Amino acid sequence: MSVESLWFDSSRCFVDNEWIAPVNHQYLELYNPSDGSVLCQIARGDSDDVDIAVESASRALNGIWGRTSALERGRILHRMGELVLEKTEQLARIESLDVGKPLTQARADAVALARYLEFYGGAVDKIHGQTIPYLDGYTVYTLREPHGIAGHIIPWNYPMQIIGRSVGAALAMGNVSVLKPAEEACLTALAFADIARQAGLPPGVLNVIPGLGAEAGAALASHPSVNHLSFTGSVGVGKLIQASAADNIVPVTLELGGKSPQLVFADADIDAALPFLVNAGIQNAGQTCSASSRILVHRSVYEQVVDKMAARYTSLRVGPALDDLDVGPLISARQRAIVQSFMDKGDDLTVAARAQVNDQLPGNGFYVSPVLFSDVSANHPLAHEEIFGPVQVIMPFDNDDEAIAIANGTRYGLVASLWTQNGARQMRLARRLRSGQVFINNYGAGGGVELPFGGSGHSGHGREKGFEALYGFSTLKTVAAKHD
Ligand code: ADP
Repeated sequence: MSVESLWFDSSRCFVDNEWIAPVNHQYLELYNPSDGSVLCQIARGDSDDVDIAVESASRALNGIWGRTSALERGRILHRMGELVLEKTEQLARIESLDVGKPLTQARADAVALARYLEFYGGAVDKIHGQTIPYLDGYTVYTLREPHGIAGHIIPWNYPMQIIGRSVGAALAMGNVSVLKPAEEACLTALAFADIARQAGLPPGVLNVIPGLGAEAGAALASHPSVNHLSFTGSVGVGKLIQASAADNIVPVTLELGGKSPQLVFADADIDAALPFLVNAGIQNAGQTCSASSRILVHRSVYEQVVDKMAARYTSLRVGPALDDLDVGPLISARQRAIVQSFMDKGDDLTVAARAQVNDQLPGNGFYVSPVLFSDVSANHPLAHEEIFGPVQVIMPFDNDDEAIAIANGTRYGLVASLWTQNGARQMRLARRLRSGQVFINNYGAGGGVELPFGGSGHSGHGREKGFEALYGFSTLKTVAAKHD
């Protein structure tokens, strides 16, 4: 397999709307998770490249981009969205090869990227300041202004969606961006930069420096000229990013994953819930921040739900991304080893079902067999540690209080869902769940770009998506004029 659909040089950095070789001429290899082969080389950018990118961004901020109206920024974002839609198939194929995600899921990511650009592009000229009644002789108003240079450090699991929700919002509000994609998957970030250039985004407004986290990532996070940081990734690296933000006293948005539960009550429509219960755990091979890795079920319907979920598990098809089955490979050999070690921690648990992995699969692909563990107690490591692989645990509860105690009993708080027909219970428990998003009789609500998203606790802080993202990527200035 090859990335013949690339129309740019993947071994370069993107700075000032130009493709430039990394200053120190160091490169990394990018792997195809479906067969373990080398896809292509990418730049191993470092602090020298980050410096150049930040300088370019600074010129754009103090130059043409700083004078571009909200209306015109919105139009450029719309054009970017249109080009993304035109290139949906190409982008999806690139993402499938790079991330290992089934083609249908990669296609959905490209469409979501376009949708973010449409939404933010259409919203940005509707963001208004306020006038504030004050003392006689004063007129007071507020202005929403960009932070300045936004640094984005993103992971490999949903590059297109995360670029859309974070870079899209930053640019809409008039910031300039330096993006450090993940070393495991960065091709659509580079493709997106070229699309932005084609759509008329001026030089320096978006720069992309691929490279290692400890090199390009750390350099961007600690750069003294960067005015805002947004990070999606692991808790451990999130702490480092927050420490860098503290050093430079800049605002930071952290989205760090979760252990998101679905609560199934005795009166739930179980057949309606079933596809969501399983898909939310195995989508993108479970490598999803908002994956649902815990299923909590009222004891009276517990056996029924276990049996039905197990039946779906045994019919799951696992295979190469371009075969577009239910589950693709994991991103890397390293990730497979991590997920396998979690699966081994379940040796003392009951395996309700395990999907079969076809032994004809390409031998060096990073495949694991999705597994559902049942009768798991809330204090078992698999019930509270994030795994980032296709592993779900299912456990019974006896009443609402116990369900909420288990649901809220991890360090995370990103997403949760309630499956119940009882309206009072829906309202009561939606308030009691410690979670940035709560879904009632669904999971994920189709991922709507309009819906503010983010967590609490070790899931991070700050909100992306929706108007909240636009507020987050801007700062408020109060102007108080004294007059006669
Ligand atoms: P994962 O373990 O899922 O790969 P990480 O949190 O390690 O997630 O990586 C998410 C992003 O953070 C990637 O772009 C990675 O290169 C970057 N990163 C990793 N370590 C650091 C670091 N020390 N400083 C800044 N960025 C980093």
